[in-house]
Amino acid sequence: MPLPLRVRLLLAALAISATAASCGASAQQNDPTPERLAASGIHHAPRADSGFENDDGPLVRGSFLKWRWNRLIHGLPPPPANGYAFPVDHPDVGWISANRSENAMTWIGHASTLLQIGGVNILTDPVFSGRASPVAFAGPKRRMPPALTPDQLPHIDVVLISHNHYDHLDTASVQALNAQPGGPPVFLVPLGIKDWLANKGITNAQELDWGDQTRAAGLDIWFVPATHWSARSLADRNETLWGGWVVKTPAGARHPYAVYFAGDTGYSDDFKRIGAAFGCFDLALIPIGGYEPRWFMGPPHVDPQQAVQIFEDVHAKKAIGIHWGTFELTDEPLDEPPQKLAEAARAANLPDDAFTVLRHGQTILLDAPAQTASDKSSHPPAKTSGNTAAAKMAATRGACTR
Ligand SMILES: [Zn+2]
Ligand SMILES: [Zn+2]
Repeated sequence: MPLPLRVRLLLAALAISATAASCGASAQQNDPTPERLAASGIHHAPRADSGFENDDGPLVRGSFLKWRWNRLIHGLPPPPANGYAFPVDHPDVGWISANRSENAMTWIGHASTLLQIGGVNILTDPVFSGRASPVAFAGPKRRMPPALTPDQLPHIDVVLISHNHYDHLDTASVQALNAQPGGPPVFLVPLGIKDWLANKGITNAQELDWGDQTRAAGLDIWFVPATHWSARSLADRNETLWGGWVVKTPAGARHPYAVYFAGDTGYSDDFKRIGAAFGCFDLALIPIGGYEPRWFMGPPHVDPQQAVQIFEDVHAKKAIGIHWGTFELTDEPLDEPPQKLAEAARAANLPDDAFTVLRHGQTILLDAPAQTASDKSSHPPAKTSGNTAAAKMAATRGACTR
């Protein structure tokens, strides 16, 4: 005898809710991030009458005028040892455009990188202009051209903006991306920048506070704290937020991958919190340039030694040093950060290839970090270091849990 309709509907509803409950439970089991994030101490950004603040309160900095005066009378920064010419790779634009299967990264220059993760194309802080400045005729000039121009890019799905300084958020660049064939990318930005983008005609944007999560192009993405500041003029200091980004393939992905992009930052305990919240990163993009003089640049910019500390704090398996070799913003020579990074990485006993830099335009395959995309078809993957201790450490890093 058939069951009455009411009973059948009740059983169907119970079956649906049981399925939903088991999906939710298994998703939580697979991804402990929400619980760890809640316990990590990461919270929304502090806000005062003067604007957003860092976790450790307002930045305490020396005199801007003293810095500029010293820079002028001492002729700083000194030019790079070999002049303003760095080794350049010409990216394989065809391979990059076709790539939907390999996790890869291409360094465009400064903090601009193309990340290809799980078939999704992501740009960090895209700046293609000739100056990091409000005007085209003055301000810090670009010393190395962008390794990819907007028309050479594959269709970009997601743009991550760390903060509104001119070397990270460039009007012409975001407008070019907004007009890309096939429709605009999603712009993920810190609090306060959505309206700024809307004023430039860019509406496909979402703004996040520290600790907030969203999903874009099928990836889970969080905005996380950094120690820095913001301004595009004398009148808007700290009115918009700053921070870093975490990008993860969703729980249950066949090839889980997690990336941390630190933005611009001084050193603080935030990185230990980020490490506690996310457990492990396959790749971290960490700034290594913009640090001299320390008495002035120290609070908002890490030096290479502190960049290595961030690498340790966030539990990265591999890191690439960015924010160097492109715009001459501070007093160290443009070629110094990689040298100081190599010294700091050696002093910390990191494996040889754990925290390195790329050539402008270099593409690396992220699942085989020592191999470039252009080497892919003609050479086997480069061997890892013969140093046993280093190899052991690399193996340990490879085993970290998510
Ligand atoms: Zn900045
Ligand atoms: Zn910067």
